[in-house]
Amino acid sequence: MKRYLVFPLLAVLSVLVFTGCASADQSSSEQTKEDTSQEQEQEQEKQEEVKAEKEAEQEKQEAVKQEEKQEPKYKVSEISSIVPIDNAEAQVALLTFDDAPDKHALEIAKTLKELNAPAIFFVNGHFLTTDEEKETLKKIHDMGFAIGNHTYSHANLNDLTQEETKEEILKVNKLVEEITGEKPAFFRAPFGENTDYSRQLAEDEGMAVMNWTYGYDWESQYQDKDALADIMVNTELLGNGANLLMHDREWTAAAVPEIVKGLRDKGFTLVDPETIERPS
Ligand SMILES: [Zn+2]
Repeated sequence: MKRYLVFPLLAVLSVLVFTGCASADQSSSEQTKEDTSQEQEQEQEKQEEVKAEKEAEQEKQEAVKQEEKQEPKYKVSEISSIVPIDNAEAQVALLTFDDAPDKHALEIAKTLKELNAPAIFFVNGHFLTTDEEKETLKKIHDMGFAIGNHTYSHANLNDLTQEETKEEILKVNKLVEEITGEKPAFFRAPFGENTDYSRQLAEDEGMAVMNWTYGYDWESQYQDKDALADIMVNTELLGNGANLLMHDREWTAAAVPEIVKGLRDKGFTLVDPETIERPS
């Protein structure tokens, strides 16, 4: 009788032992899984910490950059004169050259550079089609001059649809950025003819919009070096914040040294366009 009982008892026991082992195995594999996922979590946390540290470092660097970036000293008034913010010097004049870079912009830039005179070159996209023209713009930019957007084809914006206006303006920004690595900071409409749309678009693009306060080099009696140099300095329109409009023309290029000297002799400082406020 007893013998008959031993076998099934052993069988039951071994089943129990086996089940016990199996469940022990299972729990130890669960333990391993838990360990692994804990390790993964820790690793993830570490990575996140590193990322957060990196981000904090980047933020710090950007804050330093912001501080280093000059606070604007001037702004463009309703009548396009350059007015001081706070205590900046008031007796200033801004030099601008439109319809560039045609035949004389590079020469003008070199002359200005020698005289240490800052200026804005307002460029048209139709002057930026060949490699040579693009190279010229890059040289002007790399000499430290500000580049302004004067539209692609120099059309009167009043004659264009919003879609066409958008293309006229954005195409030039794209071109200038591709060539110089920097988007234009200023916008001047051809013939000074902005629409509400063009003004808003230019501002949305971060450009300060301006016309000018006076200019003469397109009038026949001033298409002469001496006559132009004289009127640009001795006009009664010259006053604090004067925004001087000139063009990429032969007689203008020739008159630049006299104009710069004449303005300085009268006590004017030439405004660095970098110090002019732009829409953020
Ligand atoms: Zn123009």
